[in-house]
Amino acid sequence: MNFSDISRQIDMLIGMVEHEIYNTFQYRINEIISMYDSLVSDYAQDGELENLNKYNRLNKMIKQLEQDLTQDYSAIAKLTQYAQMMAFIHTTVGSAFLLSALVGVLPVISFPLLSKLRIDLSQEIEENELTSVLGRHRSDMLREIKIALRSSTNDEVNPTDTKRKLKRIRDKYTYNVQRLSSYEIGRAESTAGVDIADRFEDKGSKLERIWISQRDERVRSTHVVLDSQKADSKGLFYSKPTKTRGPAPRKMKGIGMLQENMGCRCSVGYRVNGIELDYMETDNMSPEQREIYEKTSFDKYQEWLKEHQENISPAYYKQLSKGMAWDSVQAAQDYDLFKVLDNDLFGDAKKFQQMLKRGFHKKKDGSWGY
Ligand SMILES: [Zn+2]
Repeated sequence: MNFSDISRQIDMLIGMVEHEIYNTFQYRINEIISMYDSLVSDYAQDGELENLNKYNRLNKMIKQLEQDLTQDYSAIAKLTQYAQMMAFIHTTVGSAFLLSALVGVLPVISFPLLSKLRIDLSQEIEENELTSVLGRHRSDMLREIKIALRSSTNDEVNPTDTKRKLKRIRDKYTYNVQRLSSYEIGRAESTAGVDIADRFEDKGSKLERIWISQRDERVRSTHVVLDSQKADSKGLFYSKPTKTRGPAPRKMKGIGMLQENMGCRCSVGYRVNGIELDYMETDNMSPEQREIYEKTSFDKYQEWLKEHQENISPAYYKQLSKGMAWDSVQAAQDYDLFKVLDNDLFGDAKKFQQMLKRGFHKKKDGSWGY
């Protein structure tokens, strides 16, 4: 196991959320199209239908649509926030395991309280907050759908065109919202990666923070260049094309920060005394490398998790499920959907590893699967 593995696990977590977003908008637009179809066929059947009547029917449909979209977006917000926590926990625990093997000290993992974690994971600027940005997407999407539907009631627009427009809106918002959500989950991963390492770095170890890309064909060329580069003495990475700098991927700041951070799936990794877990080739290892390699296998991680289960897992997951009540009672109930209490780190780690092996990946249409 290495830092790339953790990063790929989080990528899959992102995939599950992206898939849910894909399904949500597919379903919603299909619903709208079938409502629209029945509206159009009623118009056709009754040529006498008064304009006022048409107008009222359409307005009723739009009212329903407003409510439905609100629900869709609120479910996406909650799911994304939940995945942010998951990303934070799994990165923290996985990195602690790897770092302790690299540095040779036993980790003391103290998890932040959920209220504190939420602050750690929030955006510095309020208008950049996940829920604010999602709110704007919702309004824009609603407006575009309304325009498509309203202009279709004037007789020159044919229904096929309207449906094509609706599908285009669906695809646009699937893309936008997936991008936002993957950025937010990835940011939680980066935050965890930096936080946990700070505790090891402070101990005067020779840890070097490095940039790790997913190393697949979806990585942008500017991050292929950054791959495996180490942070400078201030712990910062620099990306020239966007004039940004920061302690980790997706935590870059500067003029082009939005462009730099959005859509990025890179993560942080570590190198100690020149040993970098992500690049180890089993064939020609030094004894020192071999020792670390064996200490950091996925099997060892599972053993380690079992050993620490009592200390880490129940406490954190319990806190997680309790903490979900931070907004409202309703929010807590909604979180039951995700069966938080059924999760444990051990089970998740195994599940992720299996998905990784089976090749869970993003498809061209924006859905995820094998
Ligand atoms: Zn990247």
